[in-house]
Amino acid sequence: MSEFPVIDLRSAIIIDQHAHSFANDFLQFEAVDLRRCFTESRTMEMLQNHVHNSLSYMDMIRKLGYLLDVAGEKQIIELRQTMREYDLVNSLFDDVSFGAFIIDDGYSSGKAMPLPKFAQLTSRPVFRCLRIESFIEQALATSSTFSELEEKFLTMLAAPSEVPIVSLKTILAYRGGLSLLDTTKDLAKADFAELKERSKRSTIKSAFRIERCNLHHYLVLRAFEFAGERKIPVQIHTGLGDSDEDLAESNPLLLRSLFENKQFSSVKFVLLHCYPFVKEAAYLTSLYSNVYMDVSLACFLVSANVETILLDAISLAPSSKILTGTDGHTVPETYWYGAHSIKRGLSAVLTSLIRKDFFDPAQAMKIAGDILHGNTRQLYNLDGLA
Ligand SMILES: [Zn+2]
Repeated sequence: MSEFPVIDLRSAIIIDQHAHSFANDFLQFEAVDLRRCFTESRTMEMLQNHVHNSLSYMDMIRKLGYLLDVAGEKQIIELRQTMREYDLVNSLFDDVSFGAFIIDDGYSSGKAMPLPKFAQLTSRPVFRCLRIESFIEQALATSSTFSELEEKFLTMLAAPSEVPIVSLKTILAYRGGLSLLDTTKDLAKADFAELKERSKRSTIKSAFRIERCNLHHYLVLRAFEFAGERKIPVQIHTGLGDSDEDLAESNPLLLRSLFENKQFSSVKFVLLHCYPFVKEAAYLTSLYSNVYMDVSLACFLVSANVETILLDAISLAPSSKILTGTDGHTVPETYWYGAHSIKRGLSAVLTSLIRKDFFDPAQAMKIAGDILHGNTRQLYNLDGLA
């Protein structure tokens, strides 16, 4: 086998196209709180007895120990509690060369750090992604008729924001599944009264959640139209990512009718996470010019497999349509470890493809730059905003 230099991506810039904010108190976390960020499971038995034996978590703790110069989970937790937020965040984010973030701030309630503080703490440009379902729920709570709801919802999406809005996102997948209902305005209107009643009964402990129904899907499609008019992409949650979802209903192949619909052919859609449907997502990305994908979340939950995941994506999807997102949330370790894992996986895949004579090192570095930051910069038109 001929020898080529290994593609070294350690100093390559990453623009994280899909992540969330930190928890306000992330420095004070105990071990179970940190573990909770590295699993989809919510049971205390998993957190106390099993998560620390999962490969990704073990690897994360080991690598974090090298970086912070301490060994083991207990010592890391103790050290974190004495650090300044800025120092922990920036030592991790500088290590993987984060350049900017697109943040979905519809996740988590009062515990999440507001975006301006997140931007200040990370010292990086931050852009905003609006979660469609959160706005439907907010608009419903303050509307007394369907027409008022529809108007309020669209006005909320268009409202000015301190942090530039560059994307919308839908969580259809874990609110009843990805297959879209063949709905109409009249059918949506017919759902209003019952949903309004349920929304009125909403409490902090059991908050109202919009689930698969005509009204939900009608407004999601209105949001897609809005995104098309504003020329901002729509991120769609697919694959793993929420403990109460039916994974079978989050297969991106269920979105075929949406991608075949000419009404939405000018809207750019980004399939998020995708695992374990990475091949299916790559297939759709290779077929439809307006479909893109990332492997966020899988990059830090299934890190030992990231090389295969990226090879599945890059084998079929054009490299100009693969983006980098981490789905980092709550603690800086998730973004950092996700980014680290993507760089390691991409470096290994590209080096192996050079050795197999698919391209030369210069082409490989161009592809890496596109996937790590160039494609995101272009798709979300970030240059005019940062
Ligand atoms: Zn997410």
